Amino acid sequence: DLLVVGSANADLVIGVERRPGPGETVLGSDLAVHPGGKGGNQAVAAARLGARTALLARVGDDAHGRLLLDAQRAAGVDTVGVLVGGAPTGVALITVDPSGDNSIVVSPGANGRLTPDDIRAAVSLFHASRVVSAQLEIPLETVVEVVRNLPPDSRFVLNPSPPRPLPTEVLAACDPLIVNEHEAKVLLGDARVSEEPEDWARLLLAKGPRSVVVTLGAAGALVASSDGVARVPSVKVEAVDTTGAGDAFTAALAWRLGAGEPLAEAAAYAARVGAVAVTRAGAQESYPTAAEVAAL
Ligand code: ADP
Repeated sequence: DLLVVGSANADLVIGVERRPGPGETVLGSDLAVHPGGKGGNQAVAAARLGARTALLARVGDDAHGRLLLDAQRAAGVDTVGVLVGGAPTGVALITVDPSGDNSIVVSPGANGRLTPDDIRAAVSLFHASRVVSAQLEIPLETVVEVVRNLPPDSRFVLNPSPPRPLPTEVLAACDPLIVNEHEAKVLLGDARVSEEPEDWARLLLAKGPRSVVVTLGAAGALVASSDGVARVPSVKVEAVDTTGAGDAFTAALAWRLGAGEPLAEAAAYAARVGAVAVTRAGAQESYPTAAEVAAL
């Protein structure tokens, strides 16, 4: 079983002719409200594929929180670990102009109130899980507590997004650490001497994770472990909306690893899931079933 520990946000999206400058008011389209947040996205993506999935997260006792819970349950996610209250549900306020450029303000809200105590109180969820997947839209001290509560025979998958320096204890637990190009650059800082993703993977591996996956958008991905570095084939598709592709990739990878697949095969499957996700609008709305992935 897969346990996703992370954020759940309501994405509030308004289309505008022009994004407002300082002091300016512009009129926009009707409001669209979409379930989002990296934790919520991953849980829905995994459940849609058929993975037995639980989400450990925090939402507010408000309409957005209920919307997010409904979206999780509709996808088949076990929401017994979703805590309610303490702050308003996390929200992303998004304006999008006709060229597709956006401006985003995030209020972490309840996501910022998911505490180490909440992790300790969820120990039964951890014991039921073969793979635990986390991101960084919750407090780092909470992610540290996740690592400390991993069952001995489980596997930890981390997408360090938004990226920030990680304690050795967290890095050492990752199997794999999954980064896109931007996250790789931030984590490597001055150490990033090369433009070759293979080099980033090797440098990241030297920081202590047991394995590393670098996602490269339309170019696919690569995997790195003590077995070496290998390219994962990209899948050619007509991209419509890449929102949430990385979350779908990570969820699929975590699920296949939990099913016992080797890293390179799990990543190749995840690349197919990511490819389907970019052919459709939205994040959670774009995630495929296993049958849709097989039909690609
Ligand atoms: P993120 O969304 O975190 O920035 P990427 O853009 O690297 O992550 O996308 C994650 C994965 O989704 C990629 O490794 C790839 O497998 C798939 N993917 C993303 N964009 C495309 C695309 N245009 N065509 C095919 N696959 C894609």
